[in-house]
Amino acid sequence: MDRGAVPLALAGLIAGGILLAVAFFVPGPEAPDEPVPVVVVPAPLPPVSGYDTLGSGETLGELLVANGLGPASAYAVTEVVRGFKSPRSLRPGLIARFTAVSGSEPDRIVLQLSPDSLLDLVAADTTWNGAVHEVPVSIDTVVLAGLIESSLWFAELSGDVEKLGEDEFSEYVFDLADVFAWKVDFTRDIRRGDAFRAAIERERRPDGSIRSRRFLAIELRNRNRDLQAIPFQRPDGRREYFDVEGEALKGVFLRYPVPFRITSGFSRRRYHPVLKRNRAHLGIDYGAPHGTPVKATAAGTVVRAGTWGSFGRIVEIRHVKNFSTRYAHLSSIARGVTAGAFVQQGQIIGRVGSTGLATGPHLHYEFLQAGTHRNPATLELPSAERLEDEHVDAFRVERDQALALLDAVPLPVPSSDSTAGPAVAE
Ligand SMILES: [Zn+2]
Repeated sequence: MDRGAVPLALAGLIAGGILLAVAFFVPGPEAPDEPVPVVVVPAPLPPVSGYDTLGSGETLGELLVANGLGPASAYAVTEVVRGFKSPRSLRPGLIARFTAVSGSEPDRIVLQLSPDSLLDLVAADTTWNGAVHEVPVSIDTVVLAGLIESSLWFAELSGDVEKLGEDEFSEYVFDLADVFAWKVDFTRDIRRGDAFRAAIERERRPDGSIRSRRFLAIELRNRNRDLQAIPFQRPDGRREYFDVEGEALKGVFLRYPVPFRITSGFSRRRYHPVLKRNRAHLGIDYGAPHGTPVKATAAGTVVRAGTWGSFGRIVEIRHVKNFSTRYAHLSSIARGVTAGAFVQQGQIIGRVGSTGLATGPHLHYEFLQAGTHRNPATLELPSAERLEDEHVDAFRVERDQALALLDAVPLPVPSSDSTAGPAVAE
């Protein structure tokens, strides 16, 4: 997020420093009693400046020598730096700016000790002086809204657009996609006409570069559903995003599609009672009565709904992050659950049966990650973690304040003459 900021900050400081240096040539009132030596000063050549960065394994001394300092100066500078920060703790990539009167060794060095502090080193007679300059920051809030043309990146923005720096929005897109990563597959589920609003708090440096930023609230309209994300800090310090009900956004999968006991677990190899031979069981069987409603364990897009060999009647749903789930041996598939339809978490997609290769009514549930069968009983999955009851009141206060910020900009709606996205099954 500091990209592009460093050279500007350095350049600004260097410019200011050059003015200061000029001012130093004017006899100051600080030492009026000292005799002023008469010296012949040749007309100064224009200073030349250059950047360098500390290489991996390179010491500060080596960096200084590589940029034209003599060994004595390099040693003196290193000793001055030591007064502010251990030279050994300087990380590779540290940015240094060297300024020198043409043809001589550098007499001014600026080290970027951190994104917000610069160490300014100036040669003075036989030694060097150092001073740290903190870069001040200011805090502001921007509210953006976007009407999606084809993806988050291609959105018609409104709100505080003129306050955005170059490429700033694209960084928000990454963060926003991350916040909703367990709810929305941004590579597939985003439609033309979807929209979002976001309130963002920023810390800005004088040159306009962003020191830090965080979402205060986000709202996303995706395929007829409105999702909100509100950050809230748990008592243990973890900052997470919650929906308006206080449900953690990162939770995705229900523990089971039917609330019945497991009659056959996951195994890569087991004796099959119908086939009478060893055959892997790449799913979990739930012994549920015929007709029991089966729920989608997570929101997603139906990729298969129909009869498929030994699975009998089956529904397969594709979720975020390349996960998919299968629900087999169904007696019936719910109306509207057809390939391409979007289903919500907990939506009834069909009913338990014994179609296909099944000895009796049960649900055969499969869980796949990137096409590979996984055991959902042992797989580490982010599960929805509700906010503890005692923090709900505090959360509601923050939530209402956060959502009110969004009202500065309306959630865009597609104009009636624009082409609508693909039809969404309910
Ligand atoms: Zn099974």
